[in-house]
Amino acid sequence: MMKRVNPSHDITIYERNPAGSTYGWGVTFWDELLSNLHAADPESARSIGENAVSWNSWVTDIRERATVTVHHGDASFGISRRELLGILFQRASDLGVRVEFEHEIASEEEVEDADLVIAGDGINSMLRERHAEHFRPEISVGKNSYIWLGTTKVFDAFVFSFVETPHGWIWCYGYKYSQDHSTCVIECAPETWTGLGLHEANEADGLAVLEKLFADILDGHPLIGRAQADGSAQWLNFRTLTNRTWYRDNLVLVGDAAHTTHYSIGAGTALALGDAAFLVHALHEDPRMQSALARYERERKSAIRSAQKAAYYSARWYENLPRYIDLPAEQMVALLGERHSPLLAHVPPRLYYQVGKAIERLYSLPGFRR
Ligand SMILES: Cc1cc2nc3c(=O)[nH]c(=O)nc-3n(C[C@H](O)[C@H](O)[C@H](O)COP(=O)(O)OP(=O)(O)OC[C@H]3O[C@@H](n4cnc5c(N)ncnc54)[C@H](O)[C@@H]3O)c2cc1C
Repeated sequence: MMKRVNPSHDITIYERNPAGSTYGWGVTFWDELLSNLHAADPESARSIGENAVSWNSWVTDIRERATVTVHHGDASFGISRRELLGILFQRASDLGVRVEFEHEIASEEEVEDADLVIAGDGINSMLRERHAEHFRPEISVGKNSYIWLGTTKVFDAFVFSFVETPHGWIWCYGYKYSQDHSTCVIECAPETWTGLGLHEANEADGLAVLEKLFADILDGHPLIGRAQADGSAQWLNFRTLTNRTWYRDNLVLVGDAAHTTHYSIGAGTALALGDAAFLVHALHEDPRMQSALARYERERKSAIRSAQKAAYYSARWYENLPRYIDLPAEQMVALLGERHSPLLAHVPPRLYYQVGKAIERLYSLPGFRR
């Protein structure tokens, strides 16, 4: 984006991993990402759109109750992280940006001749951590355990699958990201995780347990993991990160290095790209770098606040699943759709549902408008 705005910029991207490697599987995004990106760089938007897969229905499957509900809505998209990064690296190279793979940057002094150093080095950002006393990062660790897996099962719709075990509920968010693969993010409460023995199982054994639990949605397809060198599975607890400030002299944070949002709202990638667009805009509009960085921090922080709130409440909804899971299926599914609401956590779920229904009925009457 910076190179498009002014081709005379001399830009290098340093990526510590080899070309074509990444973590995770596929990510979801909405039309909004494509239209925002289209305004910033139509070529990237077109390529991402062409290489994405899409769906417009959501299936909630509560196995023990033999309940499957289908909800139709606007199109959503999935793309493999590898494909997405490949497109962005290629586009950057085509525009004349140098891309150096397998080159880790541990401190900004390594690039001291740069006018501006942009740290897009993820949640564990080394550049940020060196100046933790300045950026003042705060991390809150989610209660639930999750694992990010792939599968060869290609889901037609976005699938929420809830399975009851003797140790509590475990659930999976499944969505396709290519013509032959889908992502499965599997999550459960800590007592379910240990009760099922997932805390001590190696990856192969753990996947066998999960394949059995989610056999109905997987249709015989395997789950695919990324074992660590010692064969252990990559179970994690989601970390929500915020920083008091986003820049220090000529060093500025973007994406997960600056902030993370729980995966259950599927927004982190769009927010990271949005940060980049805001930063480019601020630098382009104001030639004084410090005031441009201050503007980026101020305006972008405010722009992402509602997504951060939605992510916070969504993560809490899943951590409080027992509050909702025993409701009649129709209510449980409706409240799953309302999980971003700040009010829901404070109102008895049945009452929240009934008031919501009453309001819906009211708006369906002639003369009432939302
Ligand atoms: C389970 C799960 C599911 C998710 N699903 C979605 C989803 O559906 N949709 C969505 O939009 N978001 C999703 N996200 C969030 C999304 O993955 C992140 O928000 C996004 O990847 C942030 O992009 P980033 O470029 O800031 O950081 P990253 O993607 O983490 O990239 C950082 C890069 O910096 C490199 N790097 C790190 N340190 C150095 C260094 N010192 N020197 C050189 N290179 C370095 C890394 O190798 C990496 O390539 C999900 C996250 C999780 C955990």
